[in-house]
Amino acid sequence: MTTKPLPHLTPTGTCWCGCATKVGAGSFFAPGHDKVAEAALLAAEYGSSVAHLLHGHGYGPGHSVSARAVAKGVWRKCPSCAYVGALAGIANRTRKAHPATPVADPT
Ligand SMILES: [Zn+2]
Ligand SMILES: [Zn+2]
Repeated sequence: MTTKPLPHLTPTGTCWCGCATKVGAGSFFAPGHDKVAEAALLAAEYGSSVAHLLHGHGYGPGHSVSARAVAKGVWRKCPSCAYVGALAGIANRTRKAHPATPVADPT
């Protein structure tokens, strides 16, 4: 699978969930409406099934989407266990799950 760069999107001043709410410059969504739109997309295109969402993008039990996120560098793998996630989540989780393990800060 190839990595294609995401196109640049520009906020339009109106909520992208389609509700026509005016939003501030620099925002795509009224508060919480990104989750509404995400759920609506899942419902409209994938029968509200994350399995269908994954399958539709070529992922599944034999092709890990989380491994893909780590490979692209947008997610990290916990150095001490199998957990993968966004860097902030790793740091929070590591503090709880492995209090003795310092988290390397890549910045
Ligand atoms: Zn909206
Ligand atoms: Zn861990």
